[in-house]
Amino acid sequence: MAERIIDSHIHLNLKKERPLEDLLAQMDANQVERSMLILNNTDERKAFGKEVEVFKDNKQRLWVASGLNIHDEQSKKETDELFEKGIKTCIKIHPHMFGLTKEEIPEVLKVLEEYETPVIVDALYYDKEIEFHNGVEYGVAIGRAFPERKVVIAHAGSLDFLKCMMATRYMPNVFYDYSFTQSFFNRTSLRMDMVDFLRRTTSKIMWGSDFPSFAIDKACSDFMSIAEEAGITNEQLRDVLYNNAFKVYGA
Ligand SMILES: [Zn+2]
Repeated sequence: MAERIIDSHIHLNLKKERPLEDLLAQMDANQVERSMLILNNTDERKAFGKEVEVFKDNKQRLWVASGLNIHDEQSKKETDELFEKGIKTCIKIHPHMFGLTKEEIPEVLKVLEEYETPVIVDALYYDKEIEFHNGVEYGVAIGRAFPERKVVIAHAGSLDFLKCMMATRYMPNVFYDYSFTQSFFNRTSLRMDMVDFLRRTTSKIMWGSDFPSFAIDKACSDFMSIAEEAGITNEQLRDVLYNNAFKVYGA
């Protein structure tokens, strides 16, 4: 791909000695101008902290989101520290990783009141007890509770894609990324849903790779095959690959 793109969902590869430097090199190799770097937990925030100087030199290339877990006081402390360091940080809620139940939704909404930034809600269904996953319910509740705030449902609900899209399509503040889902479900019936919703929702979908779970070029080619089948215009494709992320996360 010749034009520069934005990756709306990326992680540090903690197996690397200098994960942030490695990430920037991966971005360079794949024409990725800017990314949303998601720091879900303490390990990821620690690794980021070690290379904070690299971040400062590349501020224009990364947005940052930090996982805020009501079951882990340390996560709030570390998230607030990012703000104190002057790092504009979005909040990530990962219901499955954080072990959040549906009953805890009000408690999570209460904590979110303290922040004004966009919120990313993870809705990837994986690992054990998929039947109890509630990422979509969290995404809907947060989107509804904070209509003035941008809310991104990461992985667009994965297994619950259709439910996610139908439950939020009338909410102008809710956005989605197709990361992981675009590759993992590319040969299932879910692909048909991804094609259909991309066709009619190009103003609210962002491309993301979920690197290092998927190589950036592989994630991009999987997405492009969906985009081709959807038959969207070049302008619409540009929104998904570039413009929408700025709409959500700012300049
Ligand atoms: Zn991810």
